[in-house]
Amino acid sequence: MTERLDGTVALVTGASSGIGEATARQLAAQGAAVALVARRKERLEKLAAKITASGGTALVLAADVSRQDEAIAVVEQTIKEMGRLDTLVNNAGVMLLGNIQGADTDEWERMIDINLKGLLYASHAALPYLLKAAEDSPRQVSDVINISSVAGRRARMGAGVYNATKFGVVAFTESLRQEVTGRHVRVSVVEPGVVATELTDHMKPEVREQTMKPFAGITPLEPEDIADIIAFIVTRPWRSAINEVLVRPTEQA
Ligand code: NDP
Repeated sequence: MTERLDGTVALVTGASSGIGEATARQLAAQGAAVALVARRKERLEKLAAKITASGGTALVLAADVSRQDEAIAVVEQTIKEMGRLDTLVNNAGVMLLGNIQGADTDEWERMIDINLKGLLYASHAALPYLLKAAEDSPRQVSDVINISSVAGRRARMGAGVYNATKFGVVAFTESLRQEVTGRHVRVSVVEPGVVATELTDHMKPEVREQTMKPFAGITPLEPEDIADIIAFIVTRPWRSAINEVLVRPTEQA
């Protein structure tokens, strides 16, 4: 049984491209009003226009959620403009692969700041409202969806710090789940394999070529494949909590 999301509000971080953009569109198609968060405002505005043109409701919130003040501000602005918060999708992230020896440690900081701290700050700021939504709403439930990765389940050479952030997301998700599931906030983690997005664009070309070699020649997932899974999780009846989804392209070993 699928439940539509009419009357609910979802906040999606990293909504300016890839998985976040597709997820925002899917949740809006299911009836949720969506708060779109990322740093590239013009990309968010284009997405908001598409959602509005399809009859949906969208709010553009340009922010860097690795900064706690900005993570708090986007949650507060969502409540101010949209009145409630039922779904938080912690999707914003970067992947800067490379060996540990001789690494540019600024890249480590960037991954830890957004993949981990951004997710922690957004969750912390949103939690009081998610608890309230679970209590108030006829749906009797609210949701946090954290985007980890296959890299959060299996470490490999050349991905150490990305692995550390994504393993961290899995651990945090399970701890938070235990803390709030009794109060009907479902906390889920989604762990995709290779998805065709802009994620690898931020790496130095030579590093990208080397570290992505194992995935050459496979047909990747599309962002919509992950958005479908997120929409499926959120549209379950309150009694059913999908805690974890690991999804790879069929050809990914
Ligand atoms: P994209 O690069 O297309 O999207 C990343 C998003 O994160 C962008 O919208 C970007 O927006 C946003 N973002 C990055 N830094 C910040 C920040 N400091 N504050 C706010 N937003 C930020 O890649 P994907 O869609 O692939 O990535 C989404 C998530 O999926 C990531 O967590 C990634 O680790 C995970 N993932 C991706 C896989 C893949 O193969 N693509 C596989 C497994 C997991 P902007 O630059 O405008 O701020």
